[in-house]
Amino acid sequence: MLTLESKIEELPAVGPAYVRKLQKVGIETARDLLFYFPFRYDDFSDVKKISEVELGNVVSVVGKIVDIQNIRTRRKKMSLTEALIEDETGSIKAIWFNQPFLTRNLKKGVNVCLSGKIVFVQDGFQISNPSYELLGSGQSLHTARLVPIYHETEGLSSKWLRVHLKAVLKLADEVEEFLPPSVIKNQNLLSLSKAILQIHFPDNEESAKAAKRRLAFDELFLIQLYMMMQKKKWQENKAIKIKFTRNIEKEIRDFIEKLPLKLTNAQKISSWNIIKDFKKNRPMNRLLEGDVGSGKTLVALISALAVVKSGYQVAFMAPTEILARQHFAEATERFSLDCMKNGVHSLECNKFQVKQNKPSCRLKPELQFSNNLRDIKIALLTGSESKILINEKVEKISRSKLMEKIKIGEIGLIIGTHALIGKKVKFYNLAYSIIDEQHRFGIEQRGKLQNEIVSIQEGLKTVPHLLSMTATPIPRTLALTVYGDLDLSLLDEMPRGRQKIITKLVAPANRNLAYKFIGGQVQKGRQVFVICPLIEESDVLEVRSATEEYEKLSKNIYPDLKIGLLYGKMKPKEKEEIMQKFSQGKIDILVSTSVVEVGIDIPNASVMLVEGSDRFGLAQLHQFRGRVGRGEHQSFCFLFTDSTASKTHQRLKALIRCDNGFELAEQDLKIRGPGELVGIRQSGLPDLAMASLADFELIKVVREEAEKIIARSGSLQKYPKLFEKLKKFTEKVHFE
Ligand code: ADP
Ligand code: MG
Repeated sequence: MLTLESKIEELPAVGPAYVRKLQKVGIETARDLLFYFPFRYDDFSDVKKISEVELGNVVSVVGKIVDIQNIRTRRKKMSLTEALIEDETGSIKAIWFNQPFLTRNLKKGVNVCLSGKIVFVQDGFQISNPSYELLGSGQSLHTARLVPIYHETEGLSSKWLRVHLKAVLKLADEVEEFLPPSVIKNQNLLSLSKAILQIHFPDNEESAKAAKRRLAFDELFLIQLYMMMQKKKWQENKAIKIKFTRNIEKEIRDFIEKLPLKLTNAQKISSWNIIKDFKKNRPMNRLLEGDVGSGKTLVALISALAVVKSGYQVAFMAPTEILARQHFAEATERFSLDCMKNGVHSLECNKFQVKQNKPSCRLKPELQFSNNLRDIKIALLTGSESKILINEKVEKISRSKLMEKIKIGEIGLIIGTHALIGKKVKFYNLAYSIIDEQHRFGIEQRGKLQNEIVSIQEGLKTVPHLLSMTATPIPRTLALTVYGDLDLSLLDEMPRGRQKIITKLVAPANRNLAYKFIGGQVQKGRQVFVICPLIEESDVLEVRSATEEYEKLSKNIYPDLKIGLLYGKMKPKEKEEIMQKFSQGKIDILVSTSVVEVGIDIPNASVMLVEGSDRFGLAQLHQFRGRVGRGEHQSFCFLFTDSTASKTHQRLKALIRCDNGFELAEQDLKIRGPGELVGIRQSGLPDLAMASLADFELIKVVREEAEKIIARSGSLQKYPKLFEKLKKFTEKVHFE
């Protein structure tokens, strides 16, 4: 007897070949098969008499085959199957292409149902390439109804799946309900068994919708519960509770006051929210989300200042050496203001030098920082260098000496790369970890900064407060699902006075004009990014296209300029070198695949050229664009595309109008669906949940219900079935 746990090889008519195919998509048991959902339906529910069919409509007709034969067309060497079907009102021709085997099943005299589109050919109406089904086999599966269409991967056809699903469908009744009755009632959800029946073979559109809603609710609800429980678990850890004295708060205020710039409101709010979190003895776990250039580093530094001034250590980790160096330069600039007196500092960072020449750096003497800001000790620790800011000077220091200083607590703020989570690094009293470009780190690496740097403080095991930063703009509702275990701070506002980047969609005919313009920019001393089209299917092709672009530019277009090439497969060290050269102005035009550093600050770059721009999401294009316009020069973003589709142009034009990453991400979400948002695709969400991420209403009620449940029973003790289901669910879904 079949049960939900029956292995697929026990199901009727499933041979070894299909067992393998099913296993490849994760189907091992009858239950798994029931939970393999269609992603859409063909609507064949409009059943018509043959005399009533209308041109262009998709209909089903029922009748007898009065004639059927295979024909070979001579010219195209194609095989055609032609049939004539008759009911009491008339007859109609049906045509199939390249399916000569059909005549084995469809014979003269049998009754069939055909579903397909009515077209007009030569002498009259035809039904073209219809789905078909012999009558008398009970409920129809492939015709005359809403017909489920499944993802046809691994050689599994929708037709095959329908037939075999039908065979296990009666088991749907045995699927246990796991949602608490209150949730089902509040949200007016279908029972799980009914939802499974209806998602595969819905009675009508409405019940298909209701089924989808129920099952999407389940996935989102489980994700939400998981996130909320993770959050609770994290908060059970102890953190160092930082008692800020009045003095320290005042110092932070002074520091902000005396910055040569005005914080945006969003920066202020985020900074204080973070600082407020430090006063708790539960560790903060916060995501700081903000467009490229929204000033996340400064928020990190302000909050770091509060911690260091209170006598604790801060670790600030960036994904690459060059970013770490950049942060170190910014930190030394902000915290040691000697540079403002004499304007010399021996840092090689390009950005830093540009800054020094700005009048904003020359503060009036009375605005200069109090002496005690200077004793913040800052270190840089990467794979290849270790440096320290001490007595207002940046000095090289041996790695082992630096480690020692970190260990005895002499250094307050340690900025670096993965080197920070190296085994040998021991902190004295780490209270706060910051991870920049968090999506660039694996979950494990993040975990290391989170959990393994456990410090023993006053006899207590503590974990550091954690701030993750990302420039991936994900709308808030989405973030609450995907990052539901984190608190969220948004920098949804750009610093004032930023120049608007001029964005243009360049028609292929104007390519040379654009090249000319770019040449002019380089002559003026500016630098240029060229992004090559995204080729998802193949790294090799992507590298090749970038290499070709590089060759073309350096040989044919700009033989006199220095062109650089950067792609994902290069060794990290090579990448760093190229970026370093670009940042030092030793490269004029950098050709890159889409991997180029998001966080990198090259104030001298003024043109971003994107090839094949139609292949990218708007939010991602916006991120590319954010890499220029960081200095004082008017900057440009040129979008190239070979596509002539007006829809594509419409979509790209949104980028010209809008310069808010969150708005663009929402448009992406509407136009292309959540899968296209960077960071979401990789999130490992199951299909329905993924597809439902644009359904803000559903996400909202899911959260409300999950909150109620967690409030009643934080570890789900009162809901054993739900607990079990969640356990199985999280085993299957691998959250990033
Ligand atoms: P991101 O959010 O992309 O990490 P950064 O922190 O690198 O952005 O900031 C980009 C640039 O803007 C830096 O040069 C930084 O010093 C500057 N900046 C940050 N906040 C402000 C502000 N409030 N006003 C003006 N410039 C700012
Ligand atoms: Mg940044």
